[in-house]
Amino acid sequence: MSGIVVIGAGQAGASLATRLRRSGYEGRITLVGAEPLPPYQRPPLSKRYLLGEISTESLLLRPTEFYADQAISLRLGEPVSALDPVTRRIRIGDRVLTYDQLALTTGSVARRLPAGIGGNLAGIHCLRNYSDVDRMLTDFRKARRVLIVGGGFIGLEAAAVAAERGLGVTVLERADRILQRVVCSETSDYFRNLHAARGVDIREGVGLIRLTGDRHVTGAELSDGTRLETDLVIAGIGIEPETQLARSAGLQIDNGIATNAYGVTSIAGIWAAGDCASVPHEGTRLRLESVQNAVDQAECVADNMLGAGKPYVPKPWFWSDQYDVKLQIAGLSSGYRRLVVRGEERGPRSHWYFGERGLLAVDAMNDPRSFMVARRALQCGIDVDPQTVADPAVDLKLMLLADEQQ
Ligand code: NAP
Repeated sequence: MSGIVVIGAGQAGASLATRLRRSGYEGRITLVGAEPLPPYQRPPLSKRYLLGEISTESLLLRPTEFYADQAISLRLGEPVSALDPVTRRIRIGDRVLTYDQLALTTGSVARRLPAGIGGNLAGIHCLRNYSDVDRMLTDFRKARRVLIVGGGFIGLEAAAVAAERGLGVTVLERADRILQRVVCSETSDYFRNLHAARGVDIREGVGLIRLTGDRHVTGAELSDGTRLETDLVIAGIGIEPETQLARSAGLQIDNGIATNAYGVTSIAGIWAAGDCASVPHEGTRLRLESVQNAVDQAECVADNMLGAGKPYVPKPWFWSDQYDVKLQIAGLSSGYRRLVVRGEERGPRSHWYFGERGLLAVDAMNDPRSFMVARRALQCGIDVDPQTVADPAVDLKLMLLADEQQ
């Protein structure tokens, strides 16, 4: 009996393997990971782990013994080099494993700054794996000036940590505004102001021409003609789904490893979930990069591997911590027509996105109540009136109660 092999020991892989066992699967489960560490949490990497406040051990999602207790066999520290869907075999180093069913939870890899613009100088780091942060820490502790390339969540969280440590921080965002890919301009404004108040120099609409230095990076030339001195560069320029193994095995790739609504890839018996997988959604292919999606999709796929036959319905939510602000996002805002702002610049504040058919998403800044109400409304299909939301005197929870009483 070959059992189920899960390739990718991140959040999605761990959730999928655990769910299989908890749902009563009695066969062999093998969880394979390229990194040497058992499944761990990534969100603290750009916050408390970078600040040096927590240990590598405390990143672990579960203690190592948990996997032994659950009879989940861990094979860590070496990537899978080949997958043959015909014979149902995978190769790790010189060993071969067979499977009855296979799940791909290979996650994503950080984009790198190209060597041709100086991206291979010492002192240039990305921030995806715990080992990236470990490598960065010596430079980070010595640095006085840091240049952050990319004004997404990685870049801004790293900027907050660096500013809190007293470093001079510049953030470069080549798009017109920070966080452009994920939020409205009002939310970008909120975070620009937050960082500016802490002395972070945010330059939008400005790209990187090249990084300079002898062996170690010492400077940068920007697309607006300016030059900067720097001791450290952090690239937060996005991630790419890890599809190499799937592609070489002949699986369909379309914005990640393409699956149907149940998580089956283009080859029966092979499933995919998490950052690496794209699912059909409203006429397009949706690939979500978040912890919540990794967990929910992986659990849904595990259930389907055991015969549940339930389509995955994304219920996206997301959070980011910067200084003393917690941003929580519920829903997907793309295609919104109207934005309603609730709250003031300081204090709890939320941005509500409405489309033709009602509420689409909410960005809540230090406003857990709005986040909770919005998430519930989105999950339960509760009608939300924009005027009610805009009125700060209205207790939003009453909106949910009113709906329950109908
Ligand atoms: P991201 O959200 O894609 O943001 C990267 C930004 O960098 C984009 O705005 C991009 O602009 C810009 N950029 C790309 N190349 C550039 C260049 N050469 N010069 C200047 N700007 C450039 O990705 P990320 O911030 O690296 O984060 C990676 C993933 O981790 C994301 O999925 C993110 O959501 C996730 N994450 C989650 C958390 C959390 O859970 N709190 C925290 C951190 C990260 P273009 O769009 O023009 O390319």
